[in-house]
Amino acid sequence: MTARTALAIVGVGKIARDQHLPSIARNPAFELVAAASRHARVDGVENFATAAEMLDAMPAIEAVALCMPPQARHAVAAEALRRGKHVLLEKPPGATLSEIDHLAALAETSGVSLFATWHSRFAPGVEPARDWLAGRTVQSVRIDWMEDVRHWHPGQDWIWEPGGLGVFDPGINALSILTRILPEPVWLTAAELSFPENRAAPIAARLSFQGPAELAAEAVFDWRQTGPQTWDIVVETDAGSLVLSAGGARLAIDGAVVSEAPEAEYDGIYARFAELIAKRESDVDVSPLRHVADAFMLGRRTVVEPFHDQPGEAG
Ligand code: NAP
Repeated sequence: MTARTALAIVGVGKIARDQHLPSIARNPAFELVAAASRHARVDGVENFATAAEMLDAMPAIEAVALCMPPQARHAVAAEALRRGKHVLLEKPPGATLSEIDHLAALAETSGVSLFATWHSRFAPGVEPARDWLAGRTVQSVRIDWMEDVRHWHPGQDWIWEPGGLGVFDPGINALSILTRILPEPVWLTAAELSFPENRAAPIAARLSFQGPAELAAEAVFDWRQTGPQTWDIVVETDAGSLVLSAGGARLAIDGAVVSEAPEAEYDGIYARFAELIAKRESDVDVSPLRHVADAFMLGRRTVVEPFHDQPGEAG
């Protein structure tokens, strides 16, 4: 049996607890040895307030998983890469495109692996959808990604700040699937972004894309949906139609469900990270983030009613 990679986690918040810690515990390729978080601790490992303190104190750490918000990720990732650690980035990989280029170059210089993860690409319907679409001509795509921000992001102020992406935080998951399954890339042609008057990031967005062979794609992201939540992608082709629903967990082709499996996205992420480390390769695809950057560049901004975490709250 090969030695396990000594792994540390940075930014112990919702996603670290919900997904990373359980998936790391299930993966024999990794041994969680430490955590760095200003306010949180992980039982059973060494804990530090900052990543720098942790890396100073524990040179045996070989890899770090960065689970803090995107605005705080680059500095820690750069430091870890300079010290020769393999780095896993939560999505979105950073607050800008150019900072990710910098990290990719550092990983190459240091001879370590950088993995910019897109968890939705590990949803069970995504690879079968990609396989089915290969060789077909895509005519249209419709994405509806609508959820209740108060349920999924309670009190997360960073998500409303510049770099937090607002509704693109979940919307980029749909774009990560789109950019994986389409046989050829699309480009953004128009966008409408709805900003609450008291926030620096959009609560809703409508995007239009164009692609080769008259392909037209539309995406609607909305954080104001209560009740049932919607994470659907419908693709019409010259030879049938495909529906990916439940965020990619269920795939139907021409009306018949062909694949449906329990969610195991983060197990897939850690299996891939182990593979990248073994081969000393990186996996950094910024195409979902590029579409978001294009939306901010080309989007028409409208101001909508203020958003408060507690309905009815003012100020
Ligand atoms: P979160 O609960 O707010 O946790 C992030 C943790 O990072 C915080 O608890 C905080 O811990 C630490 N942190 C370090 N610097 C910070 C800063 N400047 N501002 C705020 N927190 C900081 O967020 P999350 O939901 O886990 O999301 C983190 C990342 O995972 C995001 O990029 C998000 O898109 C991605 N993600 C989230 C989900 C989800 O369902 N929540 C799903 C998939 C991916 P300390 O205060 O202890 O340092």
